[in-house]
Amino acid sequence: MAPRVLIVGASVGGATAAITLRGLGIETVMIEKELLKAKPCGGAMPPAAFREFDLPTHLIDRKVKHCLIVSPSGQETRIPVVSTTPTDDDYVAMVRREVFDGYLRERAQARGAELIHAQLVGLDVTSAGVRARYRSMSDGGEHVIDAAVVIGADGSYSPTAKFLGLPALPRAIAIQERMVLPASQMARWEDTADIYLGQEVSPDLYAWAFPKQDHIAIGIGAGPGHTQRAKELLANLKRRIGPALAGGRVILREAHALPMEPRKQMAFDRAMLIGDAAGLVVHTSGEGIYWAMKSGQLAAQVLAQHLDAPTAQNLRAYERIWWMQYGTMYKFLEILQWWGYGNERQMEVFTEMCRNPDVQRLTFDSYMYKTMVPAPWAVQMKMTWDIIRAQARNYVRRRTPLRERDRVLAEV
Ligand SMILES: Cc1cc2nc3c(=O)[nH]c(=O)nc-3n(C[C@H](O)[C@H](O)[C@H](O)COP(=O)(O)OP(=O)(O)OC[C@H]3O[C@@H](n4cnc5c(N)ncnc54)[C@H](O)[C@@H]3O)c2cc1C
Repeated sequence: MAPRVLIVGASVGGATAAITLRGLGIETVMIEKELLKAKPCGGAMPPAAFREFDLPTHLIDRKVKHCLIVSPSGQETRIPVVSTTPTDDDYVAMVRREVFDGYLRERAQARGAELIHAQLVGLDVTSAGVRARYRSMSDGGEHVIDAAVVIGADGSYSPTAKFLGLPALPRAIAIQERMVLPASQMARWEDTADIYLGQEVSPDLYAWAFPKQDHIAIGIGAGPGHTQRAKELLANLKRRIGPALAGGRVILREAHALPMEPRKQMAFDRAMLIGDAAGLVVHTSGEGIYWAMKSGQLAAQVLAQHLDAPTAQNLRAYERIWWMQYGTMYKFLEILQWWGYGNERQMEVFTEMCRNPDVQRLTFDSYMYKTMVPAPWAVQMKMTWDIIRAQARNYVRRRTPLRERDRVLAEV
């Protein structure tokens, strides 16, 4: 029998791995426990994903052309989504996961991958092969499936990683509400996504209002240590957005964990981890869709070369290529999170720096096209000087955070 690959989780990462494996003629089975509910997600994606994975643009609800960044003191910076060499492709794509994931799964099935609606409940990986136990969602019974290799694409709680005996990763919680607004209010988000900074809405990440086809998704990220406060932070965000949400109707409340650290090892004997299961969300933006798809594709390509000898040593080529290509970018974004979201003064500096056209272009080049092209020296010098000035300004003349201002006004 030809070697078979088992993928646990058929969301963005798992389905992309399946599409890639089928493209290489490899027998593939996906196990997915949740085919009816959408993965909680803001759904912001770079246009690069649509080109690189040959995705139809009808999956895009809205093309966001502006970002509004609001600092803790209410300082607003509205920036156009434009790259160094502007094109029509300069935008942030907004998708709904209930539509997007379904499309990817169907594409994987159309290419011959099998999809089992079931929950993985046990996994044995030995030198002879992989044996998985799953509980079927259709008949409720427990079944067994054998494979040559398993790919864990099962998200931030990754049962696959658990069964492999790996520790849980530090996790943030992201919680969001989807709201239908009166048309007059929705117009404000026609082509604009909002980012809110401040301890009262997100102590170490950010909060957002992202437009979807006929509603908005508003949410917050809370890093490890703040996860218990997630609901309170979301309530603060709604207060802060205020009248713009008046008359809105909540159609869905959703929350899920995000990994906050990449795994040291992502490939083992007969096993690989991708996407959130491997901790591949980037820090500053909480962006994980593109990275789950990219890691699914790369893991599948490496696996195809070593299917006859899927040892850790061979499969770890996936890890080496990944960090060679993206290591600098992950490090840079980790430092940026620490620098920009570290405390409220830094959040003010961060908002101010977003007004700098060079910073805007570098940010959008790296987000939209996933390239980190170093800026010319003169530009780097100017940016450094602007950062120093913004640091000095915000530490000498401290802005009053909104909640303090609200308290003082209330007392008056
Ligand atoms: C509220 C929120 C907002 C976000 N916003 C954005 C955003 O705007 N842009 C962005 O790029 N990223 C965003 N992210 C991150 C993004 O959602 C994830 O990084 C991405 O979905 C990871 O994809 P994945 O395929 O690795 O895992 P997931 O999408 O988490 O999929 C894992 C799959 O495994 C399945 N599974 C789990 N356990 C089992 C089991 N035992 N048996 C069978 N199946 C199982 C699950 O049902 C799920 O379908 C957000 C995350 C959250 C929580």
